[in-house]
Amino acid sequence: MFDLAIVGAGIVGLAHALAAARRGKKVVVIDRDAQANGASIRNFGFVTVTGQGAGDCWQMARRARDVWAEIAPEAGIEILQRGLVMTGRLPESEAVIDAFLATEMGEGCTRITAAEAAEKVPCIRSDAVRAALYSPHDLRVESRTAIPKVAALLAGKYGVEFRRQTQTLNVAPPQIETTRGTIKAEVAIVCPGDDFTSLFPERIAAYNVTRCKLHMLRVRPASPVRFETAVMSDLGLGRYLGYAELPEAAPLKARLDAEMRAARENGVHLIVTQSADGTLIVGDSHHYATTPDPFAPTEVDDIMLEEFDRVLALPGRTIVERWIGTYASAPDRWRFTDKPADNIRIVIVTSGCGASTSFGIGEETIAELYG
Ligand SMILES: Cc1cc2nc3c(=O)[nH]c(=O)nc-3n(C[C@H](O)[C@H](O)[C@H](O)COP(=O)(O)OP(=O)(O)OC[C@H]3O[C@@H](n4cnc5c(N)ncnc54)[C@H](O)[C@@H]3O)c2cc1C
Repeated sequence: MFDLAIVGAGIVGLAHALAAARRGKKVVVIDRDAQANGASIRNFGFVTVTGQGAGDCWQMARRARDVWAEIAPEAGIEILQRGLVMTGRLPESEAVIDAFLATEMGEGCTRITAAEAAEKVPCIRSDAVRAALYSPHDLRVESRTAIPKVAALLAGKYGVEFRRQTQTLNVAPPQIETTRGTIKAEVAIVCPGDDFTSLFPERIAAYNVTRCKLHMLRVRPASPVRFETAVMSDLGLGRYLGYAELPEAAPLKARLDAEMRAARENGVHLIVTQSADGTLIVGDSHHYATTPDPFAPTEVDDIMLEEFDRVLALPGRTIVERWIGTYASAPDRWRFTDKPADNIRIVIVTSGCGASTSFGIGEETIAELYG
C-alpha cells in the first residue's frame, strides 16, 4: 500500500511527488506515456518569476524557483541561464517598466540601458531598447532533459515508484484502477495536464477549461553568441499579467493592438532562451480551442520571427526545429485544486506557468493534505 498515488508525471505530478517524498511518504507516480511527452517537456524551461501575475502566482513562482535551484545540483540539471532582459522599444513600454519597478515585484530588478542590455545579450538591437528591465530572479533549464532528471532523482533518492505506459482508469483510494491492474494507495492526487476527460470529467468541466496551442521554434545563430539571460520584449509587457495588469499598461496594449495586430490576434509574444549548444528556443503563440488542431501554419511562425528580428540582430539565423505544445487554460484562474473527496485532489495549472510554479503548488497541496 502506498501513502500517495499521483496520476501524471508532468511537472505538476513530479512536484507533488517531491513534496510528499521529502516528508517521507511512500509515493507512486502513474503515467500513460513511456516517457514525458506533454507540456512539461515542450516549454522553454523558463522558470519565470518576474512578470507572473501579482499575488499567489508570483509567490508560487518565487518558491518554485528556489526548489529548482535546490534540486538542480543533486539531479544533475544544469541551470543554463539566470535572469531576464525585457526590452521596451515603445514609449508606452517604458512607462510599464517604470511602473513595474515601483511594485513589490520589482524588488531586485533594475532599469538598464541598451548598452547594459547588450552586455548581457550582445546581439540585442539598440533600436529595440528605449528602456529595458533586468530581473535576476529567473532560471532556465532544458526541459526535455530536466524533467526526466527530476523523475530519476525522485526514483533514486526518494524511492518514488513510477508506473509508465499505464493509463489510470478510476481513482477511488485505496483502489486506483489502471490498465495494468489495481494500485493501492491511501490518497490520490490527479495531475492530468490538459486531459480533461479521462478522470473526473464533470468536476474538471466545472472550471470551464479549454486548451491553448503554442508554436515553438529552435533557431541556430549563424555564429556563436552567448545569451546570459532570457530575452522578452514589448509584446511580453503587453501579455504577462505581472506587467499587463498594471494600469500603466493600458496605453501599451492599445498601441500594440493598433500597430501589431497580427501578433496580438495570434497571441504572439517573444521569449528567447538559449540551450547548451548555443541554439535558441523561440516562441510563442497562443490559440485557444477545446480540441486545438495539430497544424502549425508558417504565417504564425513568421510573426514570431518578425519580432525576433526586430529585437535581435542575428543575420543568417536558421530554424532547426519546430513543434507545438498545448496546455490547460481557464478564463478566470491560473490554476485550481479540486477536492472530489477528503483523500483525492485534482490539481491543474490553467495557464502557461506550470514550469514556473509547480514546485510551490506541490508543497501547498501536500501541506494541506498532511498538515
Ligand atoms: C509550448 C509551451 C511553452 C510553455 N512555456 C512555459 C514557460 O515559459 N514557463 C512556464 O512556467 N510554463 C510554460 N508552459 C506551461 C507548462 O509547460 C505547463 O503549465 C506544465 O508543463 C503543465 O504540467 P502538467 O504536469 O500539468 O502537464 P503535462 O506535462 O502535460 O503532464 C500531464 C501528464 O499526465 C498524464 N496523464 C493524464 N491523464 C492520465 C491518465 N488518466 N492516466 C495516466 N496518465 C495520465 C499525461 O500522460 C502527461 O504525462 C509552456 C507550455 C507549452 C506547451
